Amino acid sequence: MQYKQVISAQYKNISLVAHDNMKPSLMAWCIKHKDRLSQHNLYGTGTTGTLLKNQAGLDVNALISGPLGGDQQIGALITEQKIDMMIFFWDPLEAQPHDPDVKALLRLAAVWNIPVACNESTADFLINSSLFDKEYPKSIPDYASYISSRT
Ligand code: PGA
Repeated sequence: MQYKQVISAQYKNISLVAHDNMKPSLMAWCIKHKDRLSQHNLYGTGTTGTLLKNQAGLDVNALISGPLGGDQQIGALITEQKIDMMIFFWDPLEAQPHDPDVKALLRLAAVWNIPVACNESTADFLINSSLFDKEYPKSIPDYASYISSRT
């Protein structure tokens, strides 16, 4: 695969996802960082996104619920370069019916070089990074070059 440089914008598209046992932690984290988060475009899986809208007062684009396909929706947005960062508090202590979707989402985030926080400590490091609200040049797969080199 060939790679190309793109700029991750100052104002980011951030996806917020939490498994059921982790929703209280993500809610508390989002309330704590509401001022910084609300400067960006927020996306969430259905239940997480709706709870954040209703209980934290954040303007979140709520997709379909994760177990019904919301993780795959976020994965699709990542492949279209419409998500710049993901805060995903997945539950390491409970099996999920949509585990294949969760794995696929984490894989796509790695493929597309998306910063991902899977727990509160990492989320703290991301949101307190000087890069959080600056433009950031990063490399992503260059499929157009790859396919033209194959044809
Ligand atoms: P939910 O989905 O926000 O709709 O609960 C989260 C998940 O992927 O489990």
